[in-house]
Formats: sequence, structure tokens, C-alpha cells
Amino acid sequence: MTGHVDAVVVGAGFAGVLAAIELREAGREVVVVERADRVGGTWRDNVYPGVACDVPAHLYSLERHPNPDWSAEFAPGAEIAAYLERVVDASGIRSSIRFQSALTDAAWDEAAQQWRLAFSGDGPQTADVLVLACGRLAEPHVPDIPGLVGFPGQVMHTARWDGSVPVAGTRIAVVGTGSSAAQLVPELVAAGAEVVLFQRSPAWILPRGGRRYGPADRAAFAADPGRIAAVRAEALGGDDERFAARAGAPAASARAVRAAQAHLAQQVRRPALRRRLTPTDPFGCKRVVLSDTFYPAVASRAVTLEASALAAVHGDTLVGASGARHDSIDRIVLATGFETSEQPFARLVRGEDGVTLAEHWAQGMTAVGTVAVAGFPNLFVLNGPNAALPHSSSLLVLERQAALVRRLTGSGGVIRARPEAEQAATAAIADRVDGTPWVAGCRSWYRDARSGRVTLLWPGTTDDLDSAMRAAVRDAFTVTEGAR
Ligand code: NAP
Repeated sequence: MTGHVDAVVVGAGFAGVLAAIELREAGREVVVVERADRVGGTWRDNVYPGVACDVPAHLYSLERHPNPDWSAEFAPGAEIAAYLERVVDASGIRSSIRFQSALTDAAWDEAAQQWRLAFSGDGPQTADVLVLACGRLAEPHVPDIPGLVGFPGQVMHTARWDGSVPVAGTRIAVVGTGSSAAQLVPELVAAGAEVVLFQRSPAWILPRGGRRYGPADRAAFAADPGRIAAVRAEALGGDDERFAARAGAPAASARAVRAAQAHLAQQVRRPALRRRLTPTDPFGCKRVVLSDTFYPAVASRAVTLEASALAAVHGDTLVGASGARHDSIDRIVLATGFETSEQPFARLVRGEDGVTLAEHWAQGMTAVGTVAVAGFPNLFVLNGPNAALPHSSSLLVLERQAALVRRLTGSGGVIRARPEAEQAATAAIADRVDGTPWVAGCRSWYRDARSGRVTLLWPGTTDDLDSAMRAAVRDAFTVTEGAR
């Protein structure tokens, strides 16, 4: 496709799909460009055994697309990907998606007051509005470990899982102990693998709970949407306490620490192992893991816990930072997270004066109302700067961001975020995180690796986000008429 459209959305995960729905409903002509051959974003890419969402499924659903058919309180990843496919069909946006086409260049054309675009495949040449919904946990982080490239077996990141390789009877090294590893390791053990687990720093782990929904539950949800709303409201009901605990509020944090310690004590009987699994970071400084199966798996005979980072690889021997050697490893699984500080899409986008988004964000992401960036007219970034909740469903943020983009673009003019407003928003984030665990010094993807600023986490509740967005709409933008 060539030519001009009102709006181009890059990425067809939840964020891009939501933006497309909102903009189409507002009467804009929208094209979504997706580099893969299916929608789904993180839920398409992450297919490792055990992948699931640790937010209750009825809360990790779009408010306008309730789903009575979830098979369990915590939905498996494949079910969420299938749900998003259904949302795409139900909302009529599938025909607007161009698959297998990646953004290669985007430049603001000041004379024409529009975005000039280039894609590896199909996609419009120009658009009034550009929405980047490229995901924040999309690019696997592969650590630079001496000898890793010479490892004779397969090296695989959790987000690039190859299900064709047998697991049973093999000896697998898993590097990392975040949410992905916590879901994967029990499944590897259940499938008959022997696991050597490299733990650089123990995570705080709380019980997850949750039950399966049977046919009767699903029929009841389908018959009465009020039941879904009630389950959702119940899940949301715990948000204040969860937020307070992660933000370091003394009483809530102490309750969470006690719950995590009791969970560890109950699931791991051996004191020495328990000690090695006990976190030393402040509670909440990085994303809290929810799991009922990780500790029992680690305590089983099938897992060797190497309580240090992977430091070197010599042939099929892996060496921990402790000096311990682990021989005859068949496969290495990197559960090492994602490139979050420097998002690859930022290098492709040039705003006013030819400055790239990557240059603008050289000290970490910044935005106004979490979506707009000074110097980048009519550009909106979803799931980017300060858009991750520490305690609840990320869809709550994405729904708000997509609605904000619809509102801001409603005039049809050119929206510019004021630089002072972006500086003020950045300063407000710094104030909010001051004294919280998020800046207590632990490594986490919430922070920019270069500046140490908290650039990915939204350090507030959804009410706080609503206030920040309202204030942005009031004060942070100038609107001029477009050239067309
Ligand atoms: P992550 O939380 O960033 O964890 C990466 C892990 O790799 C950490 O334990 C880290 O150790 C370790 N690591 C990194 N480099 C290492 C090295 N050189 N040697 C040893 N260890 C190393 O990544 P993730 O587990 O993939 O999760 C990322 C995010 O995805 C989560 O926080 C969550 O937001 C999302 N997610 C969600 C779910 C869900 O259920 N909703 C499931 C999976 C993922 P340090 O802690 O010492 O840095």
C-alpha cells in the first residue's frame, strides 16, 4: 500500500489493537503495521512452557471485551493470544492490519505537517498521526558472557522458545530468576529435565493461588456479565494494598515481606537452601514474582541452585561467579529479561529538527501524560515511558493511553507536547519515586540503565495516572491546524 492515512499504529499487541480501535471509533482512517505474521505482541512471542499471566484473567481483559471463557483464574499465555485475536475480529480492525512489515524509518515533515514513513513491507507513506505500540519487553536481553557463543548446545531466550527441542532427560541451565524463570523452571522439572539454575539475586515471591474455571463457572459468567464485573472488582479491590507494599509504605510492605517469608518457609524445608533463596533487595524494588510452584521445583532433586550469576562458559561447562562449575550442560535458557532502556524503535523515529527519539531519550525515556514527547508532533508512544504498573494489570494503563490518544487527536490538528511540560512530568516522577524501593539500588527493568532514573514504571495508582493525564490535557499541549 502507498499513500496517506490519518493514523498509522506500529505494533499489533494489546496496545496497538486498543489504539486502532479508539482511533477508528473516532472516525479516523487507521492502518496498523505489524512486523510478525500474527497479532499478540508479548503473548505471541512468549511461548515457553508455563507462560501465563499472573494478573487475574478477568482483570487482564479489556473492559469492553469481557471474556466468560477463561479456563482459569490466571490464564495461560496461548489463551490470552487467542483472546486478542478474537478482540481484533470483534472490533473489525483485522482488515486494517498489514502483517510482516516492520517500521524502518519515520520522519516528521515540517512543511507538510505529517509523518513520512518507510516499512520493510506494506504500509502507508505518510500519516498525520503516528502511534508507536512496539512493546517495552519485546527485545530479548542476551548477556555478554565469555564463551557463550562457543557453547556447543542450543542457547535460547525464554521469549524465543523452540518447542521442537526435547526437554525430558536433558540437562538445562536456566539463567535468571524473574517472572519468566519462575514459570518455566517448574515445567522443565515436570517434563523430566535436570536444571541448573543461575540466580544472581533472589526474587521476592508471593503465593499466586488461583483455580481453574470449569464449564459451570464459564456458563455462569456467560449468563451474567455482572459476575465478570464482580470478579474484576474483587481483583481491583486488592490494588491499593499491593501498590502500597511495592511503593514501600511501611505497614503494607512489612505485611508483604511476612507473607513472602512464610511462603518460602512453608515451601522450602532445608534451612541452607532457604537462606540462599532469601531476597536481600528491598521488597518491591523490582517486579514481585507470584508463584506456588517455583520453590517446590527448586527444592526438588531435579534442580541445582547456583546462587550466583553465570560468569563464563567453557565448552559445555558453565561457571558461576562463585567459581562453581557445572558440567555436561545440554542447553542454556536465558531467562534474562529484555532490552528496556534503549528501545530499538527509538532509533528509527526523527522528529522536529531531525532529532531521533533515541537522542531525545539519551538519559532515559520521558513523556507528557505517558504518551507524548516534546519535539515529536502528533507522535504517541504506548507502553513506553512510565507506563508499567508495579501492582496490577498493564491493560488498565493501555486502555487509558489509547483513550488519551483518541482525545488528543480529536481536533484533527497538530498536537505538540510543550518541553516545559515534559520536564515537569519528569520531575514529578522523580519526586514520586524519591524514598521508594524503586530507587533503592537494585537492578530492575523499571529503571534506565544509563541514568538510573525510573523510566518504565508508573510510580502511582491508576487514579494518579488519571490525574496526570487530565493535567496533561489541560496544560501540556499546543494545537495548531494541520497543513491538509
Ligand atoms: P526479568 O524480570 O528482567 O528478570 C531477568 C532475570 O535475569 C533476573 O533474575 C536477573 O538477575 C537475571 N539476569 C540477567 N542477566 C544475568 C546474568 N548475566 N547472569 C545471571 N542472571 C542474570 O525478566 P523476565 O523474568 O523475563 O520478566 C520480565 C518481565 O516480563 C516481568 O517483570 C514481567 O513484567 C513480565 N512477565 C510477566 C509475567 C506474568 O505472569 N504476567 C510472566 C513473565 C514475564 P538480577 O535480578 O540480579 O538482575
